[in-house]
Amino acid sequence: DPRLQAISEAIRVIPHFPKPGIMFQDITTLLLNHKVFKDTVDIFVDRYKDMDISVVAGIEARGFMFGSSIALAIGAKFVPLRKPGKLPGKVISEAYELEYGKDCLEMHIGAVQKGERTVVIDDLVATGGTLSAAIKLLESMEAEVVECACVIGLPNVKGRQSRLNGKPLYVLVEPR
Ligand code: IMP
Repeated sequence: DPRLQAISEAIRVIPHFPKPGIMFQDITTLLLNHKVFKDTVDIFVDRYKDMDISVVAGIEARGFMFGSSIALAIGAKFVPLRKPGKLPGKVISEAYELEYGKDCLEMHIGAVQKGERTVVIDDLVATGGTLSAAIKLLESMEAEVVECACVIGLPNVKGRQSRLNGKPLYVLVEPR
């Protein structure tokens, strides 16, 4: 797809953020370019528009930036998966391991119904730990997770596929 090169080039790399040694993939520069932002959303929309998807679940915070646009365009609802303590209603929580330490995602009870076909959106997948927590939240409410999708996928992360519990993963680009 000829659009992928421009998408890759629009992502800024910031060395040593938020910690020494990390090459941070910054998608805010992609959002500044209307054509590239639209192309990014359009690629996901073309993929999911005829797959009978009724839920797009976006992971806080950068998953919201792509996920809500995708949801609007394919006629699905948008469900935010948030960090602890942010959602005001009754929630279910799922803790997951980070490289150093632990984190947690929450979802409103009642946001998805049994059998609803769902895609999970985030900006970047590394170990798959975050997506795996998202899958567990959705499946605990008996939603059907059809696929996880990210703009950026780190290459060859060991154990990622098993962490995703067999769910397909769709990524647009690798880090430059
Ligand atoms: P994982 O759980 O190891 O797959 O890490 C993915 C999560 O970390 C996602 O929610 C990303 O937004 C975040 N993340 C890790 N590294 C980066 C980065 O370089 N840029 C943007 N987000 C990142």
